[in-house]
Amino acid sequence: MVKRPLASKKSSRRSFLVGGAALGAAAATLPAPAIAQGKRTLKMVTTWPKNLPGLGMAAEHVAKRITEATDGQLTVKVYAAGELVGAFDVFDAVSSGNADMYHGAEYYFQGKSPAFNFFSGVPFGLTSNEMNAWIYYGGGQELWDELSAKFKLKPFLCANTGVQMGGWFNKEINSTEDFKGLKIRMPGLGGEVLRRLGASVVSIPGGEIYTSLQQGVIDATEWVGPWNDMIFGFYKIAKYYYWPGFHEPGSALALSMNLDVWESLTKSQKVIVQSACAAQNDMTLAEFNANNSSALATLVDKHKVELRRFSDEILTTIGEMSGKVMHEMAQADDITRRIYESYLSSRRDSIRWSHLAEETFWEARRLPFSYD
Ligand code: CA
Repeated sequence: MVKRPLASKKSSRRSFLVGGAALGAAAATLPAPAIAQGKRTLKMVTTWPKNLPGLGMAAEHVAKRITEATDGQLTVKVYAAGELVGAFDVFDAVSSGNADMYHGAEYYFQGKSPAFNFFSGVPFGLTSNEMNAWIYYGGGQELWDELSAKFKLKPFLCANTGVQMGGWFNKEINSTEDFKGLKIRMPGLGGEVLRRLGASVVSIPGGEIYTSLQQGVIDATEWVGPWNDMIFGFYKIAKYYYWPGFHEPGSALALSMNLDVWESLTKSQKVIVQSACAAQNDMTLAEFNANNSSALATLVDKHKVELRRFSDEILTTIGEMSGKVMHEMAQADDITRRIYESYLSSRRDSIRWSHLAEETFWEARRLPFSYD
């Protein structure tokens, strides 16, 4: 069941978006937490607005789980984007040790290494199930550890959105020509692909998207999917809602801990952190799946949003360009190339099995037999 959308009224949306900053100012005036009786308070900075359903709450839930499972020996305090540092500054904050861990999307940090894109999601890449297979059992975690260690970080999967939507537009996209000159918010390699097709692409944090679209700083945007997008209120200022989200087929979110902090944990604390992240990876995906369908119905039936599907011609062109962009990017350095090759190998395996499994089953389930 969908909770009452926080963005249903302008005033509530405003308080939702600025509330974090207000709380942050208050929190900053409190005395620094004391380290007593072996108890430690760890700072988690995030790329999300305060208490944002889905992603922001994933950070809150995993922090609470670690705190409670360690009986407060590790007390994790969550800071929303802008409270301690800006959304896109969390990587540097944790890498330098100014904060202890971040929760966010790895593609925000592609400026540090293009290889980070693979650990959130790439266009026409792995779905959430397939991503788990690669990270947990396909060599992905070891490569991610090696990449992150260069920045003194230790990463974990810690949420997934499932397949995202293609985004919000105020004009129809009938061919790839329609991307030319379009100012669109799209992070990661999806954004790079659209830039190659002539779009003017920006990557801005979630909390700033609505105002940017409203003020015409951007013409179009993607965010996540029906549930999260309805909360942000994009239906009020954009007419067409496109699918599928070719650019993010199963976006993973990460909890990444400062490597020195990670290595200072006891064995049981490490197991708790690892298990709490794995649990959150499942729970957030389930939460998105549980809420997206009814949110989509509300968007279409109540808010009169017009759904549009990208044509196969558009998707084919974007798919070709995606492969080309990734191949070029992979030449950056040795580790990026090894991560790219591992990812592609896992993608090939997944495609072979998914075709016989999910893909064929979903088609079978939609055959016109009577069931309920
Ligand atoms: Ca997205």
